[in-house]
Amino acid sequence: MPLVIGVDFDNTIVSYEGVFYLAALERNLIPSDLPPSKGSIRDYFRSSGREDLWTELQGYVYGAKMDSAQPYPEVSSFFALCAEKKIPTYIISHKTRCPYLGPPYDLHSSAKEWLKQHAFLSPAFFELTLEEKLKRISHERCEVFVDDLPEVLEHADFPKGVRKILFDPHRRSGPSESYESVKNWEEVVKILRLSAYES
Ligand SMILES: [Mg+2]
Repeated sequence: MPLVIGVDFDNTIVSYEGVFYLAALERNLIPSDLPPSKGSIRDYFRSSGREDLWTELQGYVYGAKMDSAQPYPEVSSFFALCAEKKIPTYIISHKTRCPYLGPPYDLHSSAKEWLKQHAFLSPAFFELTLEEKLKRISHERCEVFVDDLPEVLEHADFPKGVRKILFDPHRRSGPSESYESVKNWEEVVKILRLSAYES
């Protein structure tokens, strides 16, 4: 049985740990004693009624600060192992072409450039909407999909019969009946038994 694995991009392959904090500090948007997580920065803007700054900061990070973002530990080994085992892998994400606010960075080309710089060679699809992303998962005949968002995996239009894995490094989501959870890429390799996989 051939195995086909689809993988989301933002916060699944790419870790923005610390990047939002540094970008916000650089632009003097937050106090430096704020905890450095993406969530605490988002909450800071929301609680001060500056959701627009948060939206603009996201455009800045995804468009101009991708160089500061790193791959999650072992995600490169996961793709290398799949290549060695001849398991097709696809990177399937959705994002708008330009940020909603602020300078019109081309978010698709920033993401593709990052993939190239970090030597990810799998075909990558950046769809404009979540609906198109879900169609792409089905069109590429993914049998497994890894994503960091429960709302993607639990979406009513998520293709049936795909094994769903939630990438949840900070264990934010509780257990679910509709997907398995992992906290790192070693666990993905383990639960899919990729080391022992023979095509
Ligand atoms: Mg994501």
